[in-house]
Amino acid sequence: MTGRIGSGDEIGQDPVRAKSLGEIQAQLGKKVELPSPPAIVVRILEAVQDDDSCFAELGRIIAADPSLTTRLLRVANSSLYGFSGRVKTIENAIAILGINALKNIALSFIIVHRLQRRDNGLFDFEGFWKRSVTTAVAAKTLAPLLAYDSDDIFISGLLLDMGILVFHQCCTDLYLEVLSRKNATDLPTHVVEREILGVCHAELGGALLKEWGLPKSIYLPLFYHHRPKDAPEDYRLSVDILAAACRVSAVYHNGQSRSHWTEVCRLLQDGYGITEQQVRDAVDSVAVHAGEILGFFDLPADQMRPLSELLQEANQELGKLNCGYEQLVMDLKQAKNESRKYVDKLIEVNRKYRELAYRDELTGLFNSRYFQELMDKELARSQRYQHSLGLLFFDIDLFKEINDNFGHLAGDQVLRRVADKIKQTMRTSDIVVRYGGDEFAIIMPEILVSGLKVFAERLRRSIEAMVVAVDQGEVQVTVSIGGAIYTSRNPEIDKGDMLSAADKALYQVKHSGRNRFIVVEL
Ligand code: GH3
Ligand code: MG
Repeated sequence: MTGRIGSGDEIGQDPVRAKSLGEIQAQLGKKVELPSPPAIVVRILEAVQDDDSCFAELGRIIAADPSLTTRLLRVANSSLYGFSGRVKTIENAIAILGINALKNIALSFIIVHRLQRRDNGLFDFEGFWKRSVTTAVAAKTLAPLLAYDSDDIFISGLLLDMGILVFHQCCTDLYLEVLSRKNATDLPTHVVEREILGVCHAELGGALLKEWGLPKSIYLPLFYHHRPKDAPEDYRLSVDILAAACRVSAVYHNGQSRSHWTEVCRLLQDGYGITEQQVRDAVDSVAVHAGEILGFFDLPADQMRPLSELLQEANQELGKLNCGYEQLVMDLKQAKNESRKYVDKLIEVNRKYRELAYRDELTGLFNSRYFQELMDKELARSQRYQHSLGLLFFDIDLFKEINDNFGHLAGDQVLRRVADKIKQTMRTSDIVVRYGGDEFAIIMPEILVSGLKVFAERLRRSIEAMVVAVDQGEVQVTVSIGGAIYTSRNPEIDKGDMLSAADKALYQVKHSGRNRFIVVEL
């Protein structure tokens, strides 16, 4: 029995060439001893190949093993096969179930028994076979839904992961490495197996069963179960059934029932148009059947809870999660609102700080820093839109004397009153700043020369007329005003030109008697 999976027509366009058992053996190392088939397997397989005598011969082989016979009859009478109590003898079983079904059940018992004997104490046999039996029962239960009519699907399901068991028994240390890497990386088992062992459990299981002489219809679906897309067309259906069956088993045994269930439904709905209710009806019976069959393999069935119960529990968990999620969303919203408030506060504080940086503390007017920035903007805007821009510098005349005569606080008082007076006098579109000391500036966008002169005069007069009450009496002040106006004729004019023109005009006023104004056109 040599030959190789994947040679000839079995795999067709298969991009991954299948390894023969010999190659796998070489890959794992000569010391690794792969299991040989039990003699009875060989005899059964030879018997069923011989059409004329197979009926009698299969009966004889099975009957020679009383324990096998008992188990077979129990399976034949189980709820899974639906002939409860009517199958009394192996002949009955052959007549009712058919040669192939009986052969497969017999092989299932023998192979499971064979693999179980090599217990090295490090493997959870019970869990493994519980999952495998459930996969087998699920595969057999789902098959009619997908109009798949073959008794081989049960044994393919049962032995689907036998490669894992064999790896575990034959190269324990390496396989423990596989398991620890899988746990550390969360990669699928077959991927880690290929990485560490160079071959995966599906390849090993398939190659072993082929070597043991089992038919393609059993070992090929098993071989392809981790890469269904590569499966030859004829085996697609059985591979898909096994994939779904595997998930059903996970629903019952692996926790996270809801996600496995969703995956089962997706596989069967998307691929085969089967409704969730149909899947549910079929899968619901798996727990009952599998529970019974597990007993025939001497495995406890106490953990097999009905699907409806598992899904209900999963829904409750989901509900709890959703509640948690809603709470989380609410918390997040609240946190977002809180943070919004903080951001608003921060913006407000920043605005205040910014304002403070631009404000003069004594008068509450903008300061020269603000003036510099604003002048840049206003002049650029005036030049862009060809508007005029007026600028007035004015300085309190002989202010030092007020400080000297009435004290610094009185001087402050005067500065504040002058600031108020300017604010009352000017347009809202104009900006006044305390330029420094007793000097102020007013920026006046879009103003005519005549308007600027009228304003300068009005300002001069209103300050002249102002009487400031201070501690030691009353104070009156005058101001000297130097102005410059950009009349939009010369786009070359810059801020420096305007400032120096206004400054010069002010200087001129100061040196020609004070308390008047000069405006220069640019
Ligand atoms: P001029 O007509 O030539 O302008 O004479 P002036 O005495 O006003 O001379 P100048 O403008 O050079 O002097 C400004 C004075 O303003 C000098 C300084 O003592 C005073 N001063 C500057 N800042 C403040 C302030 O915040 N409060 C007070 N009370 N006085 C100030
Ligand atoms: Mg002065």
